[in-house]
Formats: sequence, C-alpha cells, structure tokens
Amino acid sequence: MNKIYIIPTPIGNLEDITFRAITTLKNVDCILAEDTRKSKKLLNHYNISTKIISYHQHNEHQKLMKIIENIKSGINYAIISDAGTPSISDPGFLLVRECVKNDILVETLPGPTALIPALVNSGLASDRFVFEGFLPKKKIDRERILLEISKNEKTTILYESPKRLIKLLKELLEFCGGDREIMVARELTKKFEEHVGNNINNVIEFFKDKEIIGEITIVIKGIKKRDFNPNKSIIKKDLNYLIDAGLSLSAASKYLAKKNGLKKSEVYNLI
Ligand code: SAM
Repeated sequence: MNKIYIIPTPIGNLEDITFRAITTLKNVDCILAEDTRKSKKLLNHYNISTKIISYHQHNEHQKLMKIIENIKSGINYAIISDAGTPSISDPGFLLVRECVKNDILVETLPGPTALIPALVNSGLASDRFVFEGFLPKKKIDRERILLEISKNEKTTILYESPKRLIKLLKELLEFCGGDREIMVARELTKKFEEHVGNNINNVIEFFKDKEIIGEITIVIKGIKKRDFNPNKSIIKKDLNYLIDAGLSLSAASKYLAKKNGLKKSEVYNLI
C-alpha cells in the first residue's frame, strides 16, 4: 500500500512519544528527518535502527518527486522534524500536498506539538483559537497580522525565537496595548518549563533585563468585540501604506473605516 507516515516527536521530554510512533519508525523502510544528527539521539534512545535521510527546507523541493516515485514503487517512509509535528512550522507540508495529489495515503499520528500545551496551560479560551506560527519578517506583512491580532476575538498563538521575544512583545504592546492578557510558555515539557503572564506590560517587565534562552510559545487573549478600541496611529500608518500603494485617500479611508468599524470621515481626518 502506498503510504507515508507523519510522526510527531517530543518537544523536549524524550518520553513524550507514543508506542505507535516508535513501532512505526521501526517498521518503515526509511525515515526522512529534518536534522539527521538531532533525530539520531531520539532514535538511539528507542533502539530504532531504520535508515534515516535528511529532508529539510533547503532540499525538500529537490527531493520531493524522487520520494513520491519511491513511495509509488513500494518504499515506506515516515517523516519526522527536529521536534513536534512535521508540517507545523516545520518541513512536511509540501510532501503531504504532493502525496494527496498522487493518491498516496497519508497517515498522521497524533502527538507532540508546542502550540497545544501552551494554549491549554495558558488558561485563555481554548474553544476558538488561531495559530499564526512565526510572524512574517517583512514589515508590511508583519504589521498586517499584528493588526489582525489586535482585533481578533479568538485566542492567538505565536511561535518566536528567544532572541526576538522582546522585539515581538514591544510590537504587541504597540498594537494591542499593555493590558492585553498574554501567557508566554518557555521550555515546555523541559526541566525549566515556565509560564509567564498575565499581561503584555508584566511580561515585558519580567523578561526585559534577562538573558532569554530556550523555546518560546506566546498565547494572546482574544478581545471582546465591544472592547475593541481602534489604535489611531496604526490606522494612520495603514492609510499611508495604502496611499503609497496608489489608492486614493477616499478609497483608502473607506476601506479602513469598514475594516476598523469607524466612520469614513474619522479615518479621513487622521491624515
Ligand atoms: N513542529 C513544531 C511543533 O509542532 O510545535 C514547531 C517547530 S518550530 C521550528 C519551533 C518553534 O516551536 C520554537 O521556536 C517555539 O516557538 C516552539 N516550540 C518548540 N518547542 C517548544 C517548547 N518546548 N516550549 C515552547 N515552545 C516550543
């Protein structure tokens, strides 16, 4: 049967792996791993001696079609990433998409991922949430998503590297205000796991003079619609972007008014 297995692996604590994940990794013909050296530690821990080859964001385009051909000819693969679930801010998506296109069965095992324990542990609403992963680097795209987060009624989850945490917190302060509730989960499942809250001001205060190390997931409370207070300086920035991009003042104001629940004249008057 043509099939690929997507196998989540621990995000810190080596014991967070299912029996089925271990059996599957032992039984497939080949494991695709983001970093073979890192994954060998896990595989050795569980006496898994299956052949392992590298599959990461820099070679996935090049290897993709060969892997698809091999699966069709009967080779069984499992894919793992350095930590957590492949395809969640990690390689895997392209391969799964190509398998689906080629009628290859995809079997994704449930298992570790950082966003779920961070969300559940935060105490923030977990019935409706948005996972944004890492924010884009390009300023215009980044600000567009920050604006969305500022207005989002659902809980938002973000990934960030420790060295960029303060920069991101300051951006969240600008877009959401210091009172917005957040919870920063650091080093989930590891010895020094910690959860720092409860609003943006407090979290900045907590981290600002520290050397921040380890892995970070951020959970941000959604707003109640009636509490949304549009940030005029951000709308003004947006207005300038749209005008720079060639829209007339009237069209840009109309668009932003609709988007922010304001009157067109209120937006118009910002410039
Ligand atoms: N595929 C992974 C998953 O399923 O969660 C995510 C991989 S992504 C490249 C790595 C990011 O996930 C980190 O920068 C951090 O934001 C988050 N992360 C991974 N492990 C974590 C941990 N133990 N504690 C907190 N966040 C973690």
